[in-house]
Amino acid sequence: MEGGVDRLLGLDRRHVWHPYASMPGVHDLRFVESAEGVRLRTVDGDGNRRELIDGMSSWWAAIWGYRHPALDAAAHAQIDTMSHVMFGGLTHEPAIELATRLVDLSPNGLEHVFLCDSGSVSVEVAIKMSLQYWRSVGMPAKRRLLTWRGGYHGDTFHPMSVCDPDGGMHALWRGVLPEQVFADAPPGGFDDEPDPAYVESLADLVEQHADDLAAIVVEPVVQGAGGMRFHSPAYLRAWRDLADEHDVLLVFDEIATGWGRSGAMFAADHAGVSPDVMCVGKALTGGYLSMAATLCTPRVAEGISQGDVPVLAHGPTFMGNPLAAAVANASLGLLGTVDWRGEVARIEAGLRAGLAPAREIPGVRDVRVLGAIGVVELDHDVDIAAATAAAVETGVWLRPFRNLVYTMPPYVTADLDVATICRAVVAAAQAG
Ligand SMILES: *Cc1c(COP(=O)(O)O)cnc(C)c1O
Repeated sequence: MEGGVDRLLGLDRRHVWHPYASMPGVHDLRFVESAEGVRLRTVDGDGNRRELIDGMSSWWAAIWGYRHPALDAAAHAQIDTMSHVMFGGLTHEPAIELATRLVDLSPNGLEHVFLCDSGSVSVEVAIKMSLQYWRSVGMPAKRRLLTWRGGYHGDTFHPMSVCDPDGGMHALWRGVLPEQVFADAPPGGFDDEPDPAYVESLADLVEQHADDLAAIVVEPVVQGAGGMRFHSPAYLRAWRDLADEHDVLLVFDEIATGWGRSGAMFAADHAGVSPDVMCVGKALTGGYLSMAATLCTPRVAEGISQGDVPVLAHGPTFMGNPLAAAVANASLGLLGTVDWRGEVARIEAGLRAGLAPAREIPGVRDVRVLGAIGVVELDHDVDIAAATAAAVETGVWLRPFRNLVYTMPPYVTADLDVATICRAVVAAAQAG
């Protein structure tokens, strides 16, 4: 396009809707020219060029950074073969390989894979699977969902209904969103003993609603966009027991936590628990392309396939997209060859050391680290503009929200860069 960055930013402000934004745009935007390794090359409105270390992995997806040779090669090779072909009545190697890899890597018992285009859609599919399962086995009254507060499952309507009622703006959507059953947010942190009274309250809720519950839907171990909170894996075992006892399906949303982010391949692995249905997305393609998947057990698949309507009536236009599948295969391939556990543990140690000084800042309520996730929670909402400016001044891209300044760096972030990210988080928490 013609014109300088200034002109482009002007066009953007007039025409382009950004996440959680109003129109015309009022936000301070940085223009990205290119990205490589863990660095974004940006230009601001004044024409100043900068290299920023990406502390966000592009919303937790770019686990290998940018322009990774293996992922680039997979994308180029697939473009030279075919970029896309419809999935109804046709199939292809990238999708078959991906589904097989997903089954191999995921917790035991998950054997069937529905490929879809985004995390929110994969949660829609998980909910549709759960509701249709109970319809098919003759229990159509089981159509509500149970979750805990503090969760996030996407921005389309049914996933929104299981997001935290405040964070998901349920008041705005009263009368539109289906009304689900909410437990309190899980108490304590990752290392804290589970609270027996809390587990008891979960048991009461499941028992009370068992006749109309289709599924329990939760993010295991890490509640991400709902508040970046960690909880004891023991609660997942409690959910599994309660689901079995009261005949309710268990859905784990591993869209944020999957692929090693919390230090285990899946957060469910911390608990040794398998769900009946599992969603993955975000880092599935190493952050290159939009793709997600919903996995389920043979029990769920067979239940649906033996019902009156023996098909799962869902089929996105870009289902199984070969280009995205090829890059996902390359990314999952790297998980097989790179010592990601070692890298995530190395980053975890760096975050623990580097974020510790944040504890001394007035207004900081908590500092927590799990795997390659570092969070500074303030006792007030962050001044996003001031916090972002402080991070950028340190040479780092961060995107705080609500009262949280956090980082989820790519697994390939070197120790010095992790230290710089930590300094930026501390500076942002101080400024914001
Ligand atoms: C990001 C996210 C989603 C939604 O995924 P999109 O690809 O943005 O639709 C759902 N669940 C969790 C846990 C997420 O982190």
